[in-house]
Amino acid sequence: MSDDRNRFETLAVHGGEPRPASNGSVVHPIYQGTVFETAPGSSVDDVRYIRLGTNPSQRHLHDRLAALEDAEAAVATASGMAAITTALHSVLGAGDHLIAAGTFYGGTHRFLVEHAGRLGWSIDVVDPADHEEWRKALRPTTKAFLVETITNPLIRVGDLAGVARFAREHGLTSVIDNTFATPVVFRPHRIGFDLVCHSATKALNGHSDIAAGVVTGSAERIASVASVLSAYGGSLDPHAAFLLARGLKTLALRVKAQNANALAIAEFLASHQKVAQVTYPGLASHPDHARAASLFDGFGSVLSFRPVGGVAAAERLMKSLRLPYTASSLGGVESLVVRPAAVGGHSGATSVEAEGVAEDLIRFSAGIEAAEDLIADFAVALDT
Ligand SMILES: *Cc1c(COP(=O)(O)O)cnc(C)c1O
Repeated sequence: MSDDRNRFETLAVHGGEPRPASNGSVVHPIYQGTVFETAPGSSVDDVRYIRLGTNPSQRHLHDRLAALEDAEAAVATASGMAAITTALHSVLGAGDHLIAAGTFYGGTHRFLVEHAGRLGWSIDVVDPADHEEWRKALRPTTKAFLVETITNPLIRVGDLAGVARFAREHGLTSVIDNTFATPVVFRPHRIGFDLVCHSATKALNGHSDIAAGVVTGSAERIASVASVLSAYGGSLDPHAAFLLARGLKTLALRVKAQNANALAIAEFLASHQKVAQVTYPGLASHPDHARAASLFDGFGSVLSFRPVGGVAAAERLMKSLRLPYTASSLGGVESLVVRPAAVGGHSGATSVEAEGVAEDLIRFSAGIEAAEDLIADFAVALDT
């Protein structure tokens, strides 16, 4: 049931679900088995084996994810990092060159800095809004262009349509990490991205209880991603696939509530005299506000801010908050705060962005609590 005439809320519930349902079950069952019988005369392509991602629970999840990202095909991976590294492996070989725009999640940054060189890949990091830098970085060996929808923790939005267009013009595979946006906010295939990656550990699952990743794209590209994945052995366990498929049912509701909470908190903090600076693309003061407004439906669940009074004030504030946990993930139903400079690797920022990350910067990941309660909690904590 992946009828793209349906609205996203409907797709989140029905997209990719088999009709008629398996044995009439409204909930697709968990197939925990590792291997399935092969019919006489079947080929290697018909083998259903857990590492190949062809167990029925894995396949069901793939259909669901493809529907939500508006893609022909999807493959689930054991983590977000497995999704990103496998997607890159499917297009880059020794001697190839990658253009990487902007700043990256800490794990991605570490992979690019510590591992890509050993694989024989060369990389140029460019500004995600500066076309001239992209042109200068281009080499005969350039194969792919990697970007994140919304960067962390400074919450910037690059010229994403420009990246997709530039990649197409120069025969590069465009790869985007859409974790911070989710398909509720932004569906990158619609503006021409070739491969879309997610850490489903975050909002796609939404309940902070599994690790998973996703890559979506054309059937041909995903076949090649799945082939790399089975070679390296990073498929998603069927029980986690079941939980992720369950989490997806409420994705639209959760992300909209998170976006609304993030906007409400951003506006509250921006008007508070004990807050020096708030960074959220939903605020008109954000340098990428116009671009985000034209590309996105909502502005995401993550904001960052700097309290007046430096690191000591930031630490005091985080200790005084009673609702958000101090923890460094995002996208779950519970609100989280973290001081990126305190948790090493700048909680995901690259060294490039880290230079712009103040010691007293706090990142807030909105959960689905009542906005009034979160605001009241912040109001008390800021006055402490
Ligand atoms: C968390 C995250 C990842 C890595 O995902 P894991 O599931 O932890 O491997 C990649 N990119 C972004 C933007 C993330 O937030």
